[in-house]
Parts: sequence; structure tokens; C-alpha cells
Amino acid sequence: MRQMEQKILDEATILDGGVLKVGSFLNQQIDPVLLGQMAEEIKRLFGASEVNKILTIESSGIAIAAAAGMAMNVPVVFAKKHRSSNVDGDVYSTSVHSFTHGEDYRVVVSRDYLTSEDRVLIVDDFLAKGNALLGLIDLADQAGAGVEGVAVAIEKRFQGGGDRVRSLGYRVEPLACIESMDEKGVNFCSL
Ligand code: 5GP
Repeated sequence: MRQMEQKILDEATILDGGVLKVGSFLNQQIDPVLLGQMAEEIKRLFGASEVNKILTIESSGIAIAAAAGMAMNVPVVFAKKHRSSNVDGDVYSTSVHSFTHGEDYRVVVSRDYLTSEDRVLIVDDFLAKGNALLGLIDLADQAGAGVEGVAVAIEKRFQGGGDRVRSLGYRVEPLACIESMDEKGVNFCSL
């Protein structure tokens, strides 16, 4: 998606550890025009599939997922990060290793909001090593829900998560895909 690539070139900064900072338009301040364009692109990519629910993870995925849910007219569920490992039986629960914080955390979603009737589109802001997406896929599996595919705002292909998730047979669509990045800048994937 050209507008996302341009925004990355204009405003993103590259931090140590292969982290891209996008606080000015996605992770803290949100650009509403870009958000609307992202939602339309996700609808274009997945509108013809049987998606009846969008699943994301708090917190940065929520805005993108909500915008896509509005465009596609489907409800949006977000998995919550849970402090304790003791969770009650009313939730599906899985463990995710955090790319940005380097530790494991638990994510849960209520059994009320994810069921075997659901055909889920998973949405998140970044795809790095794939742990967040695999956690969400695990929650969908526990519920017996189908996974129609994955849409991410930015895939960092050099960190391998996209290969991991695609090799399991899932359709993964990045709105922008970064092949490599260093102090000289960002190179996008040739699609
Ligand atoms: P993964 O689980 O694929 O390794 O990492 C994805 C999660 O880590 C995303 O939900 C996102 O919150 C965070 N993340 C990964 N890479 C970046 C990055 O370059 N910048 C920011 N802001 N977040 C990232």
C-alpha cells in the first residue's frame, strides 16, 4: 500500500534491535486518513472471504482492527494482556513472547466472543517474529474458529515471522512490507 510506505519513509524512525518507531501515525498518535485507507485496503483484500469477525490484540492492533471492522461491517474482538498466569475457565488463554519487551505475557479472550461459528480475520500493527499472530491463531484454534487470514500494517520480512505463519498455510497480507532496514533507511519488499 503506497500511502503506508510513504508514511514510513516520511515519519518512521529506526531504533536499535530492529524496531521501527511509528508513534506519529500508528502507535500513539493516529493518522485518521491513513487509518481509513488501511481499512479500505483490508476490505479490498479480504472482503470477498467469509470473514464474520476480526480478532486483534491490545493495544496497538485495536484502532486498525476497529477501522477494518467498520469498513467490513463485522464485530471486532481484542485479546487482553493478562498479568497473572491464573486465569479462570471463562476464557481462552495463551502465552506470547513479546518482541518489544523481551518477556512472556498471557493473553486471554472470553469464550463468549470467540466461537466455532466464527471465521476470523486476524489484524495487528506489526509482524516481526510472528509470536503475537501465532498466539491469536492459538486462541482461534481453541475456540474452534476458522482463520481466514491475517492482515498486518507492517511486516518486517527480515525477522522471519511472515515465513513462519505462511508456512503453516495461512494467508498473510502486509499493507507495507520491509525487506531490510539500517541506519541508511528502509527497503521495501518487491512484491
Ligand atoms: P512478533 O510477535 O511478530 O515478534 O511482534 C509483533 C508485536 O510486537 C506487535 O504486536 C507489535 O506490538 C510489536 N512490534 C514488533 N516489531 C515492532 C516494531 O518494529 N515497532 C513497534 N512499534 N512494535 C513492534
